[in-house]
Amino acid sequence: MNSFKDYNFNNKINNVLDNINFTKPTMIQKEVIPLLRKNINVVGISQTGSGKTHAFLLPIIENINLNINKPQALILTPTRELAIQIANNLTYFTNEIDDLKVSLLIGGTDLDETQELTSQIIVGSAGRILDAISNRHVLKLDYIKYTILDEADMIFDDNFIKEIDKIMSFIKNSCFGVFSATISKNMQPFFRKYFNGIKVVEIKADLSNIEHDLVFVKEDDRYLTLQLLLSNINPYLCLVFASTKELVNEIYHKLNDEGIKCGLLHGDLDNRERTKMLKRINNLEYNIVICSDIASRGIDIEGVSHVISYDLPYELIYYTHRAGRTGRAKYTGISYVIYDNNDAKKIGYLVKSGINFNYLTFNDNNELVSSKAIVRNKYQFKNDNNDNQALKKITSKKIKKVKPGYKKKRKEQIEKIMKKERQAKIKERIKKQRKQRKNNGNSFN
Ligand code: AMP
Repeated sequence: MNSFKDYNFNNKINNVLDNINFTKPTMIQKEVIPLLRKNINVVGISQTGSGKTHAFLLPIIENINLNINKPQALILTPTRELAIQIANNLTYFTNEIDDLKVSLLIGGTDLDETQELTSQIIVGSAGRILDAISNRHVLKLDYIKYTILDEADMIFDDNFIKEIDKIMSFIKNSCFGVFSATISKNMQPFFRKYFNGIKVVEIKADLSNIEHDLVFVKEDDRYLTLQLLLSNINPYLCLVFASTKELVNEIYHKLNDEGIKCGLLHGDLDNRERTKMLKRINNLEYNIVICSDIASRGIDIEGVSHVISYDLPYELIYYTHRAGRTGRAKYTGISYVIYDNNDAKKIGYLVKSGINFNYLTFNDNNELVSSKAIVRNKYQFKNDNNDNQALKKITSKKIKKVKPGYKKKRKEQIEKIMKKERQAKIKERIKKQRKQRKNNGNSFN
């Protein structure tokens, strides 16, 4: 279906779609809406900005029984901002549909401890939702028919799993939607336990509007290379990604100390700081924002003209998520990667995965110029989506009842596999070092 008109939503939903100028569904919406409409559990793997919020909001709103003043849909998010963003999206619907009510359960908001919640849609963080259920006894989940876990890999990363486990024990007959950028190994036991069959929908990022440029590190100095790169571009808004929060902090402080005003987005900011920072970014107070991969996820930042990867992420799939922050909605964008010979293998994988890089370097005047390919394309692209493939296998089978002691067994199994993998990696590293020593330190090119 290529137009929202083909979906035969009711008039009120169609009015909202008109008001917000949505005419055509995005890829993820095309795939997910029909499944959730039929109450089929779905895992949606797609990047931030792909339109996943409405992929679950539209079927939820369509199926809410407005005559029942009980929570019927539960939307769990890992961060306060994401919950607020979803609740903001819902205001267009609550303005149009008189009896539709939404409650936002996040830290820092008041919760009437005596009144049972009557809103049909509950959006919030796991901790606050659990608090409303178990401590304050104001949230009853008996009528929940849709449960959504948004940015699920962050929920699992942040060890919210215990809270989610508890919340799940209160949910009886729900359809589930899990949305995530990646499906990590630690999610799989959870899926097996709770979902009796689930459909996995994976939307590959459309990177066709994006130019990918590899910039060879100058004088073995990444920070110098970043400085030169920034002085060569004139960004509307540039996101600089680094793979650890220590690096993110270091770059942020160094640039600010030099008088280059830039914003900061990483996981250690508290809720208030994050909200303030996002407001300032969206008000275009900064041209440059230094970000960690996780902290910037799920957040809709408009107008990103350039992305710089200070280094490549540990999980290469995140490169697509970084690059995908630019080149949105018919605009073009540039994604730069600062690299050296140690990145050769990772770049080889990215090239194999279909990313066409231009090779750049700095000339004597420190201007950015084309260079020859410094990295040879000889490596096989290692499928970073192995987990997703494995998940497809697991979840395509109908899963029977979970056996007692299953959690412990799974944990032991995972630990065993990880230990084996660690040992293999160490062995591989030693072998490589020996070979390198033998070759007298010959580098890649
Ligand atoms: P999301 O990935 O849900 O955060 O959406 C990213 C951005 O795309 C948001 O600004 C949405 O309002 C917008 N969006 C989502 N779906 C559509 C659509 N079908 N047509 C136009 N814009 C959309």
